[in-house]
Amino acid sequence: MVKNHKLAKAISDANWGELVRQLEYKADWYGRELIKIDRYFPSSKRCSNCGYVVEKLPLSIREWDCPECGSHHDRDTNAAINILAAGLAVSVCGATVRPEESKSRQAGDMKQKAPTSDARESRAVS
Ligand SMILES: [Zn+2]
Repeated sequence: MVKNHKLAKAISDANWGELVRQLEYKADWYGRELIKIDRYFPSSKRCSNCGYVVEKLPLSIREWDCPECGSHHDRDTNAAINILAAGLAVSVCGATVRPEESKSRQAGDMKQKAPTSDARESRAVS
């Protein structure tokens, strides 16, 4: 998202650390578990019906059809379904949530912290 200059300013202005701190506080307050998933997890680009991951999905495309199964997706609703599924997979199965084919990782871009022992990592809104 940093490549999109309009979004980059909004993102840099946002205090994500404070948001995460508030979420952790509220989750703890209500006895809930906050699960952070990988920031590169393809939540928007992954079909929530069949798991197919589209190569590119610019932010201007708000709805798309899966080329594999033909499901029609609202970008944000599809991402929410995928994030919920990923969180449940971590919670129930202890799975790690990592992108299978993240370009940035393939390129050796390791800006984020190394995974912790409980395999819960940061996640940005996509
Ligand atoms: Zn599909």
